[in-house]
Amino acid sequence: MKSITVIGSTGSIGTQTLEIATQYPEEFRIVGLAAGGNIELLARQVQQFRPEIVATCYEDKLPQLRDALADLDYAPMILAGEEGVTEVARYGDAESVVTGIVGCAGLLPTLAAIEAGKNIALANKETLIAGAPVVLPLVEKHGVKLLPADSEHSAIFQCLQGVPDKGLRRILLTASGGAFRDWPVEKLPEVKVADALKHPNWSMGQKITIDSATLMNKGLEVIEAHYLFGLDYSKIDIVIHPQSIIHSLIELQDTSVLAQLGWADMRLPLLYALSYPDRLYTDWESLDLVKAGSLTFKEPDHEKYPCMQLAYNAGKAGGLMPAVLNAANEQAVALFLEERISFLDIPRLIEAVCDRASNYNTQAPSLEDILEVNQRARQDVLSAVKSLNTVTA
Ligand code: NDP
Repeated sequence: MKSITVIGSTGSIGTQTLEIATQYPEEFRIVGLAAGGNIELLARQVQQFRPEIVATCYEDKLPQLRDALADLDYAPMILAGEEGVTEVARYGDAESVVTGIVGCAGLLPTLAAIEAGKNIALANKETLIAGAPVVLPLVEKHGVKLLPADSEHSAIFQCLQGVPDKGLRRILLTASGGAFRDWPVEKLPEVKVADALKHPNWSMGQKITIDSATLMNKGLEVIEAHYLFGLDYSKIDIVIHPQSIIHSLIELQDTSVLAQLGWADMRLPLLYALSYPDRLYTDWESLDLVKAGSLTFKEPDHEKYPCMQLAYNAGKAGGLMPAVLNAANEQAVALFLEERISFLDIPRLIEAVCDRASNYNTQAPSLEDILEVNQRARQDVLSAVKSLNTVTA
């Protein structure tokens, strides 16, 4: 039996991970749970999975969490605050930690889990994008595994099983095209938050759904693929595949192309990240190619979706730039969700902040450098917002 901890347990990734744990009680035991403000759900999860430790990231929610757990017939450790979440991540004998926290807030808990010798089932891509210069050496130092749970990177990882070192020539990331794939570019100024939250194929948290609508999600995934699989950016391409059946492809040195297929269901990459290297039998619906019908592909439209190119540029610049890009995007998406900026302001703000940051880049940043630019880029977005004439509040 594998013992696992889930951070971000009340979100889309977290709840799907716990569905897997429910389905495989003989395979997985939950050691720790951490989440944000959804105390009611977190408490129900504690009642069901009986972890040894639980935390909310909000200090002021500790009394509510304690109250909600007052009638338990055992006594887990109950913590709060960023330090509490980090303690959950590093705690006890959990073999793997599923990182379902959204955003760079996942960085410190992930680093703590790695230092405690735990394998990481990586959903929280922002942590790797912002923190790769410290995350990757730490993974190496502690000999832990960084197992992709993002569907595209899981697909690549699955295709790579059995491929010899240096056999990989190119990565082809598939993209659904997001909420606006069928909208003409001229209509994008009219986009409302509710439009952007309607993902055609996947049901996910709000932030990644907006990232999918801008295609920044694909840009972030290009950087994630670079760090996970070590290919140069010139060898990582994006193709639009509206059906989301092929989750990504790899091309080998001899031009052979391998792909991983399946219905759009995040449980599969999560399960593989947890069961790796084993394959567990599931009773989930088998892929039916006839039912899936046509599989189509087209070029990504860089004019309509400038975020992809911004991500390539930041990735190629390296050092602190991916952290700047990520923080600027997190802040811009938050402002868009609050209806304080327009959809098209998102790439404008990110570009302005990345341009400004190019002079404080360093190729070998420390954790402190990363945390500092993460704050600074957010501030820069807030300052840049003032100069946009589309601001509504
Ligand atoms: P959600 O918004 O659905 O969930 C986020 C989770 O993180 C919630 O449990 C939330 O708690 C918790 N949380 C937020 N801030 C903190 C914090 N500081 N400390 C502890 N917990 C915190 O996001 P998703 O599940 O969609 O995404 C999670 C990550 O996985 C993202 O990085 C995303 O890019 C990635 N990912 C998601 C996919 C998906 O299908 N959803 C697919 C591929 C990648 P609460 O709700 O209680 O406030």
